[in-house]
Amino acid sequence: MQSFNPKNHSSDNKMFNINNILRENIKNLTPYSSARDEFQGEASVFLDANENAFGSPLNQQYNRYPDPMQYNVKKRLSEIKGVPVRNIFLGNGSDEAIDILFRSFCNPGVDNVILVPPTYGMYEVSANINDVETRKVSLTEDFQLNVEGISEAIDKNTKLIFICSPNNPTGNSINRDDIETLLANFNGLVVVDEAYINFSRQKTFIQELTEYANLVVLQTLSKAWGLAGLRVGMAFASEEIIEVMNKVKPPYNINESSQQLALEALQNVEQVNNWIKETLTQRDKLVLSLKNFDFVVDIYPSDANFILVKTTNAKGIYNFLVEKGIIVRDRSKVELCQGCLRITVGTPAENDILIETLKFFK
Ligand SMILES: *Cc1c(COP(=O)(O)O)cnc(C)c1O
Repeated sequence: MQSFNPKNHSSDNKMFNINNILRENIKNLTPYSSARDEFQGEASVFLDANENAFGSPLNQQYNRYPDPMQYNVKKRLSEIKGVPVRNIFLGNGSDEAIDILFRSFCNPGVDNVILVPPTYGMYEVSANINDVETRKVSLTEDFQLNVEGISEAIDKNTKLIFICSPNNPTGNSINRDDIETLLANFNGLVVVDEAYINFSRQKTFIQELTEYANLVVLQTLSKAWGLAGLRVGMAFASEEIIEVMNKVKPPYNINESSQQLALEALQNVEQVNNWIKETLTQRDKLVLSLKNFDFVVDIYPSDANFILVKTTNAKGIYNFLVEKGIIVRDRSKVELCQGCLRITVGTPAENDILIETLKFFK
């Protein structure tokens, strides 16, 4: 593709049109119409969904199908995030949102997507499952985008670019200007995965949704919100994109208990904010302690709840810690991460155990 124009920033991407990137079969799809879709409202007798009318073996009423559009959870998220409900999609984890983007926009065996390794592994797995080519443009040595390389890798079949910011496993945020250059020049979707945004000093891209019709922001309840077990992920995008994703998703993708518990959890913003502050304090402490070890070569600046630590002997340290019942992530085989371990920030007690244990590593 022709070179990007980095000046072309503050204006909307005038070339983008969702109909140019949507798969033909999805454009023409008649979505499944559930009983809950066909009748919404108050009634006293529901005989429309073949549910067990007597109840369930559980105390709570799980005999009924859940709300396919998760209105109550979205309404609460809308208040927290300042985004209208119509711009929110909920998935069974953000991993489901990633998969649905592939299935909606990428023709198997024909289209391609851009990945910028080292980054989150699910983009590639999802691409492979959907038989979609991945074009990899490595991050630079300081873990930033190679914008020139990305512009060269794009062709007419490039549908999606995945940017993870703060990035997993490197922990840094991606330069905002570079992401905006992609948004302003690329005629497919730019997916900004903000799984770790709550820990970041950077602003979310959610506020750019009114600016860029080709922006998809992913967030999740799995990290700062402490709800990895519920499987609730979010995508924020234009109404048109959200409509497509809703059409493609399984009708009841967020189960009733997850919806109820997510709604309850989302009342506790203050508790979560306190945990975030404590996590950042602990992260800084952990960095200072780790710097004292001879086997630590470098600790990369982190905007997330984990740190990437370059060591002289990643495999040795990993195995030593496993033996002591402490599990970190060995990322030493990952591109640009030679010798690196990824360490999640734990509770003060857990971090102490890690540091005290490492003193015995030789
Ligand atoms: C953990 C993580 C997710 C979260 O996935 P869920 O399916 O919502 O649990 C998404 N993206 C990145 C980069 C992650 O690290």
